[in-house]
Amino acid sequence: MAPFVYQATPSRVVFGPGSLEQLGEEIERLGARRALVLSTPEQAESAERVASLLGGRAAGIFAKAVMHVPIETARAAREEAARLGADCAVAIGGGSTTGLGKAIALESALPILAIPTTYAGSEMTPVWGITEAGVKKTGRDARVLPRTVIYDPQLTLTLPYAMTVTSALNAIAHAAEGIYAHDGNPVVALMAEEGIRASAAALRPLNADPRDLSARSDALYGAWLCGTVLGSVAMGLHHKLCHTLGGSFNLPHAEVHTVILPHALAYNASAASEAMARVARALGGVNAARAVFDLAKSHGAPTSLQSIGMPADGLDRAADLAASTPYPNPRPLERGALRALLQRAYDGVPPDA
Ligand code: NAD
Repeated sequence: MAPFVYQATPSRVVFGPGSLEQLGEEIERLGARRALVLSTPEQAESAERVASLLGGRAAGIFAKAVMHVPIETARAAREEAARLGADCAVAIGGGSTTGLGKAIALESALPILAIPTTYAGSEMTPVWGITEAGVKKTGRDARVLPRTVIYDPQLTLTLPYAMTVTSALNAIAHAAEGIYAHDGNPVVALMAEEGIRASAAALRPLNADPRDLSARSDALYGAWLCGTVLGSVAMGLHHKLCHTLGGSFNLPHAEVHTVILPHALAYNASAASEAMARVARALGGVNAARAVFDLAKSHGAPTSLQSIGMPADGLDRAADLAASTPYPNPRPLERGALRALLQRAYDGVPPDA
């Protein structure tokens, strides 16, 4: 076995249907007395429910989280936290809401308690992102890692099916890249393989019944593992491409992950054969890239960049951007091969596997 470094993620996870009821105890455990509750406008009702569970420990609600954490929203939330004398932030929602909590913690070091309702996985990472003047800046900072995460599958019953599929593929992407990460290790590889298996296996029963609580639990369990992988090791080509496409062309987050993943895996296949075998095994397939493509297609998810708003004349710039920034990846980045990858993804044809 090759030498490795393993660094555990120092967060507490409370998992299970109905676990939201443990919120009071968990807040007490953090020693917090005045929690600011965060959500998107669409999930304001969930924020109200959280505030009522907190009772006297709720300082207020800020239900203005939006995608990619604009600096104006981050400032407004920070000011609200200071005005209310908050000593903790409770974020209920997807990656956008968790991201807003992180923006507050980055400046104030307030502890975050996250209650995820998608499979994006941000709650398990020390990675923050803030968008200023159209440019998304990201960084790693231990202060932004949520101290406690409550995973209650009941809160995911309302996640629309289309988003369920793309969000689960977003999770699978974290795990797939974690297996071939240059700083990977055997524990992360185990979590990644199991995370991919659980996330993919949940989709079929959820297709039949999006309110299947047992399948929702499996999907959220998978998301936890995949998020832990994302927070533990460095990401490669796939995440870089998604960051470029999302940031420079404003494409929707989970959908762009869904479209790009099969093509990024095909690009890396020859340089990471063991990792590909693990991904394929987790999906019950033979070829990792093809198995991911088929999984997305069979569940009605988008498979082309064209269908999610990518302009055809942006492909050259995207290839330039991806090839110009050095980052760790099993196969060296060649501009011509990346341009061909992007064309296939744009057209929605199967990966070159
Ligand atoms: P999101 O948080 O933007 O949510 C999308 C929409 O779905 C919102 O309107 C939200 O209110 C709604 N929603 C969420 N859960 C729901 C539920 N259970 N029922 C009904 N509606 C629900 O989407 P996302 O994909 O979770 O997050 C994307 C954002 O997270 C991006 O900005 C991305 O960059 C960021 N992200 C960051 C990290 C990290 O480690 N920093 C990791 C993953 C994603």
